[in-house]
Amino acid sequence: LFIYWDTTVKHLLAIGKHMKKIRLVGYKEAIGDLILERGRRNKNGKRDELDELVLAINEMHHEIVEQYTAIEYQSLHDTLTGLPNRRKIQHLIQDATMRSRKIQGYGALLSVDMDNFKLLNESMGHTVGDQMLCEIASRLTTVCNEKLKLARISGDEFLILQDTIVSSRNEARKIAEMFSKQLLSNISQPITIDDHHFKLTACIGIAVFGPNTSPDVLVKQSDNALHHAKSEGPGHIELFEPAMQQKIDRRIQIDRLLDKAIDEDLLFINYQPKCDGQGKICSAEALVRMHDEEGSVVYPGEFIPVLEETGDIIAAGDHIIRKIFEFVNKHNNDIKRSGLKSISINVSPTQYSAEGFVDRVITFAKQFDIEPRSIIFEITEDVVASSIDNVVDVMHRLTQYGFRFSIDDFGTGYSSLRYLKNLPLGELKIDKSFVDDVTAEGRAAAIVKTIIDMVAEGVESEEQLNILAKYQCELYQGFFFSRPLIEEDFLAALKSTAP
Ligand code: C2E
Ligand code: MG
Ligand code: MG
Repeated sequence: LFIYWDTTVKHLLAIGKHMKKIRLVGYKEAIGDLILERGRRNKNGKRDELDELVLAINEMHHEIVEQYTAIEYQSLHDTLTGLPNRRKIQHLIQDATMRSRKIQGYGALLSVDMDNFKLLNESMGHTVGDQMLCEIASRLTTVCNEKLKLARISGDEFLILQDTIVSSRNEARKIAEMFSKQLLSNISQPITIDDHHFKLTACIGIAVFGPNTSPDVLVKQSDNALHHAKSEGPGHIELFEPAMQQKIDRRIQIDRLLDKAIDEDLLFINYQPKCDGQGKICSAEALVRMHDEEGSVVYPGEFIPVLEETGDIIAAGDHIIRKIFEFVNKHNNDIKRSGLKSISINVSPTQYSAEGFVDRVITFAKQFDIEPRSIIFEITEDVVASSIDNVVDVMHRLTQYGFRFSIDDFGTGYSSLRYLKNLPLGELKIDKSFVDDVTAEGRAAAIVKTIIDMVAEGVESEEQLNILAKYQCELYQGFFFSRPLIEEDFLAALKSTAP
C-alpha cells in the first residue's frame, strides 16, 4: 500500500490539486509548472505515464495562458492602430482618479477629435482613411511617450490621460495645455499617402480632475470641452468649465421641453404692438414663447435654433401659425374694432423651404377664416438672398393668395436692394442694431426712404423715436411703446387705443 501511495496516489492527488488551480478567472496568477516530487525516478531519462500526464497538463496550461493573454489584449486594444481602446483607458482613468484622491492631487483628461475626418474618409476611401488614422496614432504616441496614456475610443476620437498627479489644479491645466499644443502641432504636419498630401487638424477638450472627480463625470467633461472646441472651429483647444455643463444641461432641458411642447401645449404667443409716432397700435408681431416645468418662460432665442437644427421647426411652426390664426379668429371683432391692420408671423428658412408650406398655410387660413391681407409673414434677408428661387416662388404664391411679406432684421444679412426690388414686399423692418445707432446721425439716413412701410425695431427711447420720425419711418416696434404682451394684455391694449 505504501509503495502504491508513494508511486501513484500521492502524485495523482498533487495533479488534482494543481489542476484545480488552473482557472479562466485569475489565470494570470502564475501558478507555475507542475513538478511532481518523485524520489527515485527516470534514471535513464525515460518518461513514464505520470510524466506524460504532467507534460500534457503543463502544455495545456501554457496554451490557455497564451490564448487568454491574446484575447485580453484584443479586448483592451484597438485592432487598427494597436492603441489601448475605450475599455482600457477607462480602467486607467479609474486608477488615476483613485490615486488623485489618495494623494490629493490633480491630473487631466484630453479628448482629441480630428476635424472634418469623416469628409476626408468618404472622399478618399477607407483605406487611405485607415492609413491616416495610423499615422495620427503614431504622431500622438510620439508626444505621449511615457508621460501620457493614449487610447483610440472611436473612429477619429482619442483620449489622452495625463495621470502624473501634480499638486495643483493650475499646474495640471498648464501641463495639459502645453501637451495639447504639442499634439496639435504634430498632427498638423503634412501627411503624404499614395502621393496625396494632406494637412489635418484636430480639436482638443481638456478636463482637469482632482480628488473629488468621478471617472464618468471626467469623461463627460472632457467631451463637453471638446464640443465647445469644435464649435469654435478647427484646431481649437478648450478647457472644461462648469458653465459648459450648465449650458449642456439647459440644452437637454430644452430638448425635453420641445419633445412634449405641442402635446402638452407649452408654446404660447405674445403680441408686441407696432405703433405709429403717436403711440397708436397699428399692427403687431406674434412672438412665440414656451413654458418650462417650473412655470418660467423660455424665449425663442433659446429654442427656435434648436427646432431649426432638429428640423422640428416645421411641425412647431405649423402649430404656431395655427395658434395665431386661432387667436385672430377668436378675437376678430375686437381686432377689427381696434383698427389693427395686421399681425406679423415669424417664419424660419426651413419652414419656407419645407414641402407643402404654401398649401398648409392656405388650409389653416381657410380653417380659421383668416383674411390673408391681415397677415404678414416675416422673412430674414439672408433667406431671401440664399435660395432665392424657391423662396421667391413661395412668396409669390402666398402673395397671390393675399398674404403679405416683411423683411425682418433688415441690415444684418446680405440683402442688396437689387433683390428687394424683385420681391413682393409690404414692409421692411430695420434691425435694432441700426436703431441703436440712430442717435449717431447720418447712418439711418442712408437707409431706403423710398420703399414701402418702414418699421423700426427695438425702439427703446424717445430720442431714437424723434430721429427716426425725421426719416419718415411709419411704424415703431420697441419697448419704448410696448413690450411683447400676453393675449389678454394685448387685447386690453388694443381696446385702450381703439379710436
Ligand atoms: P425678431 O423677429 O427680430 O423679433 C424681435 C425681437 O426683439 C423679439 O425678441 C422682441 O421681444 C425683441 N424686442 C422688441 N422690441 C425691443 C426693444 O425695444 N429692445 C430690445 N432689446 N428688444 C426688443 P424675442 O421675442 O425674444 O424673439 C427673438 C427672435 O425669435 C425673433 O426675432 C424671431 O426671429 C424669433 N421668433 C420669435 N417668434 C417666432 C416664431 O413664432 N417662429 C419663428 N420661426 N421664429 C420666431
Ligand atoms: Mg420678427
Ligand atoms: Mg426683427
